Amino acid sequence: MGHDPEVAVRPHVVVIGAGFGGLAAAKRLEDEAVDVTVIDRHNYHTFQPLLYQVATAGLNTADVGYAVRGLFRRQRRVFFRKAQVTGIDLDRRRVELRDLPEVPYDHLIVAAGSRCNTFGIPGADELAFPLYTLEEAVRLRNHVISLFEAASAEPGLVAEGVLTFVVVGGGPTGVEVAGALAELVEKVFADDFHDLDVHRSRIVLVEQGDRLLAAFDEHSGTYARAALERRGVEVRTGTAVESVAVDHVVLAGGEVLHTRCLVWAAGVQAGALAQALPVARGRGGRIVVHRDLSVPGYPDVYCVGDIADIDDGSGGRLPQLAQVAIQGGRHAAEQVLRTIERRPRADFHYLDKGTMATIGRRAAVADLPIGVRLRGMPAWLAWLLLHLVYLVGVRNRVSVFINWAWNYLTWDRGPRLILRPEALPHTPIPHSDAAPRTDQAGTSA
Ligand SMILES: Cc1cc2nc3c(=O)[nH]c(=O)nc-3n(C[C@H](O)[C@H](O)[C@H](O)COP(=O)(O)OP(=O)(O)OC[C@H]3O[C@@H](n4cnc5c(N)ncnc54)[C@H](O)[C@@H]3O)c2cc1C
Repeated sequence: MGHDPEVAVRPHVVVIGAGFGGLAAAKRLEDEAVDVTVIDRHNYHTFQPLLYQVATAGLNTADVGYAVRGLFRRQRRVFFRKAQVTGIDLDRRRVELRDLPEVPYDHLIVAAGSRCNTFGIPGADELAFPLYTLEEAVRLRNHVISLFEAASAEPGLVAEGVLTFVVVGGGPTGVEVAGALAELVEKVFADDFHDLDVHRSRIVLVEQGDRLLAAFDEHSGTYARAALERRGVEVRTGTAVESVAVDHVVLAGGEVLHTRCLVWAAGVQAGALAQALPVARGRGGRIVVHRDLSVPGYPDVYCVGDIADIDDGSGGRLPQLAQVAIQGGRHAAEQVLRTIERRPRADFHYLDKGTMATIGRRAAVADLPIGVRLRGMPAWLAWLLLHLVYLVGVRNRVSVFINWAWNYLTWDRGPRLILRPEALPHTPIPHSDAAPRTDQAGTSA
């Protein structure tokens, strides 16, 4: 039994999304005199910063996901609904769900995150591999391993680009994916596929701008490039992708790269829910909010995290980062409580704790506040520590720590499993056990 509006006397706060922003809001409210319903299409929270490690066989899916109900098992006034939100009736104060009754609210916090933006590049939506969900991470892992299996079975396919991996986007995600793929091939597949000359594989990182990690200090970008090149990654800056096909991509200027695996780490836009609402939208379709994070015209509706277009106080917009979502979620929850207690609301002030990206073993960059810049081993250790601290769930922290220690000591990787493979157009040799292609491939390990 969830929140019952017929008998409820406590205000009902509905939180859409169990990501960083939604969980931070619900956690802030869990011991207050309100009923909270968290709604998410998945029954788990996804720790997106480590998805690339699932995709490159470094971590298990369960290491970076955490069941939402498990997080609130002792909070009797926090409820969970596993459902796809299809819309919000802002005037009737109702959240609309696919195939389920609508959910009424007194206060609403929308934290539905973001999704990939392929900027209308032909073929990219259908054929590129984005990395926003656990399903996508497993799909990419399946595909990478399948391509090596195919090359092992038919070595002639290597000349057709079957072992060429193209990563689009030189931001943190692109850098992390390219670096992790390079280590996977060099240190793990070289032995796993000892019947194959894996050194004929290529990893190409394509970035439209003139340097990597544009949001970081220039030296961090230079360091990342050198660290990737040392690992054998071909870095192509000032290069745009024009179109994507099953067995090749076309770069600006007409160059053709033969590949069957293009990872899309180049663009981000607000989650689809933002488009379903009759509200003003800013860059990337994000919902424009007031300084207290409420939606103009709807003072009891807040938007936080990636889906919100938030003024940074100096004319710019806040970036789509976990810390922005966490702090925003907490702030929106605070404003709900202030409203209930008839206290004045406060503006949101983001505390910048810095940004980090890792390239591989002992190689990372960290741009921290007050101009502190770390590179190499110190940045890598800081990165490891911070990700352990922010991972949701003690069990996950322990599991990730053990996995990392094992990987570090043995150069081995754990889950190199092809799970529920799909019949994808770019798989050169069909899987004997392939399921028909779906939008959301199943995943279990
Ligand atoms: C690959 C990757 C790596 C990243 N690395 C970093 C990093 O190193 N550091 C950093 O600070 N940031 C990183 N980020 C960004 C960071 O993960 C996001 O800024 C953060 O997750 C935003 O939090 P959020 O709560 O707004 O959205 P999310 O965490 O994305 O949560 C949104 C939730 O809403 C749910 N949802 C969406 N639509 C619906 C719907 N219609 N109905 C029901 N549920 C819905 C989703 O299932 C999801 O659980 C990374 C992002 C990605 C994709």
